[in-house]
Order: sequence, then structure tokens, then C-alpha cells
Amino acid sequence: MTVFAQVKLPYAKDALAPHISAETIDFHYGKHHATYVTNLNNLAKGTEFENLSLEEVVKKAPAGPIFNNAAQIWNHDFYFMGFKGAAEGGGGKPSGALAAAIDKQFGSFEEFQKQFDAKAAGTFGSGWAWLCKKADGSLSLESTSNAATPVTTGMTPLLTCDVWEHAYYIDYRNSRPNYLKGFWSIVNWDFVAANFAK
Ligand code: FE
Repeated sequence: MTVFAQVKLPYAKDALAPHISAETIDFHYGKHHATYVTNLNNLAKGTEFENLSLEEVVKKAPAGPIFNNAAQIWNHDFYFMGFKGAAEGGGGKPSGALAAAIDKQFGSFEEFQKQFDAKAAGTFGSGWAWLCKKADGSLSLESTSNAATPVTTGMTPLLTCDVWEHAYYIDYRNSRPNYLKGFWSIVNWDFVAANFAK
């Protein structure tokens, strides 16, 4: 039987501060994300999903609790892997083929950021903003609600921003725009470029 687990954070819990505090990591990674794992392990037991990989569960589970918990584990694993502390080289701008693709699609990096921010700000209620690569190699900005994920659409996710309030309420209270400003300071562009190269 598969024991579903969270990705191990490749940085210390205070590495993303002040943009994302250690307290937010304690709650967001340590409680919200962890609870999805506990839930999925309980829900999958004795079902056709108990021996599948996490990604297979996300792709095969019908709408409902198993999908919601599996997709939230996948989305959060991906979100937390997308960061690197500003002191360790997080933030800044992408380079190489990824930078060229962003320029080609959006005109400039600044325009891409503006459109990504608009996608995140315009996600009503709880959800996720994404930069994805489509099957034809072009880039696309997506917004998904609740646990929904591009994993089920055939697109390749490159970068995501969790815009559920639990992602920013401790550090930014209700201000999603201020959270987004902090977000750009800790993006791990090596992670995004590796996803782009897939
Ligand atoms: Fe979250």
C-alpha cells in the first residue's frame, strides 16, 4: 500500500522570511498540507487508489474527497518546491530558454509578472494561479478553484501561487497583493526552468 507523504522542504522553515514566515510554514506546510496527507491515507485505504502514485490518484479519482485531498497534496508539494530563500538566490528573473519563452509569449518578464498577478488577484475565493506549458510548447496562465489542478488537463505546470487565504493570512492578513509582492522575491527559477525543460 502506498503511504502518501509530503515532499520534504529543501530549505529551513525560516529561509523564506520575511516574505513567508516560519510561522506560516508551521501552519501551511505543518498543518494544512499535512492534514491533506492524513486525510488521503485514511480515505484511500481499502480502495482502488491505495496502491497508486499520488499523481495517478489525482488523474484518476472522481470529483470528491479523495481527489480533493490528493490534488491538494500535489499542488502544495509543487508550490513549496517552487521557492528558494532570497539569500540563497531565490527571486530575480529567469534566464536561458525559459526567459526567451516568457519574452516570446508575454512581451517581457515584467508583463508576464503583471498578467500572473492579475490571474492570482482575479482567482475568486480559494484557488491557485499557475504558469503552465501547453502541449504545443507555448506558455499559458491558468487559475484553478479549490483543489483543481492543471495536472488533470495535460498541461505541464511550471510555477504556482497558492491564493487560499491560509497561504498569506498570518503574514499579510487579507492583502493578497502584498503576498504576491513577497512571492516574487522567493521564486526558485531553477525549479521553474527544470519543469519547462520536461
Ligand atoms: Fe495552501
